[in-house]
Amino acid sequence: MNAPRQLTWNGSPVPFIAPWSRETPRAGTIVRASRATGIAYADEFAAADRRNGILWVRYSVLRGAGQPNLAGVHPLRQRQAMSHMLCQVCAKSTYDDAFSRWGGRHLFLVRADRGQPIREGETTATPPICGPCAIESVRACPELRKGYTAALVEHPQPWGVAGTLYDPRTLRPMPAPTRDGLTFVNYEDPQLPWTLAARDVVTLLGCTTVDLDRLAAHGATV
Ligand SMILES: [Zn+2]
Repeated sequence: MNAPRQLTWNGSPVPFIAPWSRETPRAGTIVRASRATGIAYADEFAAADRRNGILWVRYSVLRGAGQPNLAGVHPLRQRQAMSHMLCQVCAKSTYDDAFSRWGGRHLFLVRADRGQPIREGETTATPPICGPCAIESVRACPELRKGYTAALVEHPQPWGVAGTLYDPRTLRPMPAPTRDGLTFVNYEDPQLPWTLAARDVVTLLGCTTVDLDRLAAHGATV
């Protein structure tokens, strides 16, 4: 599979998972599922609206149309990047030469205000990143400049989704504790059928914290 073309804005690469201004959420009426426990769309089209039985937000796909929102996340491209382990910026597979050089590991880069390392088993909705894009991102991204941590990860395992929980009684969205309004819900969680998913979430196992500059300079892990 060829990676989609890298798009730029004002000379800088636009992350593959960033939404563009012409890409918008498409509201659907949430109803109680008729044949199972949980929520459904009133006009649901299972092939497009569900992934592994989980209901997903609807979002238009017009990558490159309008202006990019560099701090935002397009739910369906995030899912595509996470499920196929694509670099979140250039969308190339992270099963690349570096993956072999790094002993069969993927690079994850996350915001960390105090630079705290990624914990073993930490869950994340941030897809992997390739080495060159990681170096460029920490230089160019204002959010990451505030603090980040990077790790090589042996086993990024499917864990669940992040999304909006619906109250089974009222069918109203429930408030979430996080800044982006999303709640992390494990695949085993009984609340899963009441979740409208907006991110694919993995748990990071076999984490080794790395220094990006040294990684770039030596192509090695330490
Ligand atoms: Zn990349």
